[in-house]
Amino acid sequence: MVSRVIPVEDFDLVIFGATGDLAHRKIFPGLFRRFVAGQFPETARIIGAARTAQDDAAFRNEVDRAIREFLPGFGEEARLAEFLALISYVSIDARGINGWDELKGKIRPGVVHAFYFSVAPALFGDIAERLAGHGMADESSRIVVEKPFGRDLASAKALNATLARYFDEKQIYRIDHYLGKETVQNLMAVRFANILFEPLWNAQYVDHVQITVAETVGVGGRGEYYDHSGAIRDMIQNHMMQLLCLIAMEPPYHFDPDAVRDEKLKVIRALEPLKSSEIVRGQYLAGPDGPGYLDDVENTASRTESFVALKLSIANWRWTGTPFYLRTGKRLRARTSEIVITFKEPPHSIFDETEAPKANQLVIKLQPNEGMHLTVMIKEPGPGGMRLVQVPLDMSFADALGQDGTDMPDAYERLIMDVIRGNQTLFMRGDEVEAAWAWTDPIISEWEAGQARPEPYDAGSSGPDEALRLLHRDNRRWREIRS
Ligand code: NAP
Repeated sequence: MVSRVIPVEDFDLVIFGATGDLAHRKIFPGLFRRFVAGQFPETARIIGAARTAQDDAAFRNEVDRAIREFLPGFGEEARLAEFLALISYVSIDARGINGWDELKGKIRPGVVHAFYFSVAPALFGDIAERLAGHGMADESSRIVVEKPFGRDLASAKALNATLARYFDEKQIYRIDHYLGKETVQNLMAVRFANILFEPLWNAQYVDHVQITVAETVGVGGRGEYYDHSGAIRDMIQNHMMQLLCLIAMEPPYHFDPDAVRDEKLKVIRALEPLKSSEIVRGQYLAGPDGPGYLDDVENTASRTESFVALKLSIANWRWTGTPFYLRTGKRLRARTSEIVITFKEPPHSIFDETEAPKANQLVIKLQPNEGMHLTVMIKEPGPGGMRLVQVPLDMSFADALGQDGTDMPDAYERLIMDVIRGNQTLFMRGDEVEAAWAWTDPIISEWEAGQARPEPYDAGSSGPDEALRLLHRDNRRWREIRS
């Protein structure tokens, strides 16, 4: 199946932080792929901005190198020169006064203006203020802001208030790249474009839900940043909360940005406050792949968690009685992100006790190998009587859609195109972000005020034993972490 490319209108896209890691690894390679796909007009302009003093030619070389490095094997090198011709560069210090008039001079009237803030959040306000001060914050402008969006409720509110001074909420695109993943959007398609699941999608039929985001890497390289953040701020408050919302939300009246985001917000507001017995924190120990967490962050006194497991309850009619277990961590057994919906067992089995049916599971895999599968019971083939066996009904996107994986749009490229289209459905609204912080803040402050230390866990394991007990206590077990 060949995916349809729906072209976007002409635009000027300014990327602040254009010399940074994210721009090199994701933004420029993504834009190049969309260019090759013919998704945007060849009149579009991409303007890189950062403090580094360099001319257009030097910056184009930098982008050329980044694309070759981060899109290995993509081919299409022949089209790189055409793509690079769309790119120019302005040297700007977000906190300075130089360069803004030059940038303004590059912006064409009558096209969409998008400003991507791929810089430290501390600079978001400065850039917004200067864009407005130089007349670049008109109705055709939109801004894209990266995570982290605040580090608690107060800072998120302050950031929202700063941006709101210069831009309307409809112009602010808070990016969470998890929402740009094909599978995450498919979750909405599966739920709301089929009759099969929705009638069962509630506490009467769903036993529990697990969301796992496991990484094999440690925090090496970004230890200082991570040690001020931790797994709850880095993963739970944003990405995993967003996944939870998409699973738990009511059907929106329409696939429309505010209708979807209203429903997600209701889920966050319905989350029960967490008890300390429902949360497990861990720190990885040294292993064959590197030092332990405390050495990685060079802070032997650190109490920051590199792993967290939570048991969440949603207090509404649909979900009361169905726990949602979330876990995320570094230096775990495998790199995987998945959601597992475990349904209840049939109320009565007509088969022998040894053949009792096992619960159906819907497994939604976000990475690696995006796809979904549903486990069902069938009769084991052959003449040996009625023996039951559990088999997966597979929908790996690579197979189902005839795409070999390299053709799957990366989350960033899809989301940037949505910005140009003016579609905010897959971006977080300010009140959602604040509600998520309002829920996580007490968990974080209670921990920070205490003395307890995270539980150590072996590198390459599934996390601390206490995380296993979190489910064992409820007579359940985690799905094995495997890629
Ligand atoms: P980075 O590699 O440190 O790059 C920062 C960029 O900002 C550079 O281009 C830097 O260029 C520019 N910059 C720094 N100070 C500036 C100033 N005063 N005025 C103008 N430009 C300035 O950071 P990154 O990893 O690309 O991350 C960028 C943003 O994305 C951050 O908010 C980060 O949290 C977020 N993010 C990154 C990733 C990732 O995978 N990298 C993932 C998720 C979110 P000059 O030094 O030339 O000015």
